[in-house]
Amino acid sequence: MELSFYKTMLDYLYDGVYFVDKDRKIIYWNASAEILTGYSSNDIVGCYCYNNRLNHVNSKGVLLCRGELCPLAKTLKDGFLREEELYFQHKNGHRIPILVRISPVRNEENEIIGAVEVFSDNSSKSHLLEQLAQFKELSLMDSLTGLGNKRYVEIELSAKMNEMNKVGRPFFGVLFVDIDHFKRVNDQYGHDIGDKIIKMVAKTIQNSIGNKGIAFRWGGEEFLAIVNTHLKEELVKVAERVRVLTEQSVFRMGLEEIRVTVSVGATLAELKDTDETLIKRADELLYLSKRTGRNKASYSNDLNPCSLK
Ligand code: GH3
Ligand code: MG
Ligand code: MG
Repeated sequence: MELSFYKTMLDYLYDGVYFVDKDRKIIYWNASAEILTGYSSNDIVGCYCYNNRLNHVNSKGVLLCRGELCPLAKTLKDGFLREEELYFQHKNGHRIPILVRISPVRNEENEIIGAVEVFSDNSSKSHLLEQLAQFKELSLMDSLTGLGNKRYVEIELSAKMNEMNKVGRPFFGVLFVDIDHFKRVNDQYGHDIGDKIIKMVAKTIQNSIGNKGIAFRWGGEEFLAIVNTHLKEELVKVAERVRVLTEQSVFRMGLEEIRVTVSVGATLAELKDTDETLIKRADELLYLSKRTGRNKASYSNDLNPCSLK
């Protein structure tokens, strides 16, 4: 995977952009946010927005970051888009007027799993329309499955990597999942039914992972999941559950029942990993599962991968 195109795109925006998870932990901070606030992404990513250094106040000087007044907290609670004029504190101490625009980020169940804030220097509002157009481009959801898309997984993975390096120990793994012989499904039933089956598999994968992690649509009929565990046994269990529950899912079309299987590559993150080496290892393990028969999960963190089934 090359340096993320999308992260680069976000870094080129004039506006500051940051993402928070549902606990209001900041998981991404773009280059313009660094310039506007004086805080680097290292200073901010991993902090909670209510105890960060920005100390948002309204025009009356009331501090908004703690309690119910925080617009991010309100959007995480009610799911509404918000636009507010606030003042944050620059790293050098002075106050800067900003216009913030906040939007919820939802998962396939339509549950709110985080929020994105776009903010611009409000000394002039001339960028507003441009900003709204840019904001639309920032969609992180895959429209077919409702899962996070590749853009989102890249941001999330890079945040996890930063956190791992900060805390100095690995605490997550990834699964790379690809539907087996999907071309045959398209050829036999058509692309529209193919799409519905991708949706079915997406739901099954997320449900197999449950609250242990989050699944993303990497592209086509491929998925990537981040699983929050440092234990091989736990990761292997989740990988195997993804495989088995997919095998046991069924798409009904009249009297006909369509079933598919998936192959999975599973690996734990290691301190020496980069986003690229981690994904590459998961991808290689996925192809090991393909080569050795499909409908399989392979796990490895060493040179002797084991295939599970
Ligand atoms: P393998 O077991 O080796 O993965 O075989 P495969 O046929 O699944 O091969 P591969 O993964 O290379 O091909 C995936 C196919 O999925 C190619 C493409 O026609 C189809 N596909 C990709 N994206 C979509 C999509 O959004 N909708 C539908 N219906 N089909 C898609
Ligand atoms: Mg594929
Ligand atoms: Mg495939």
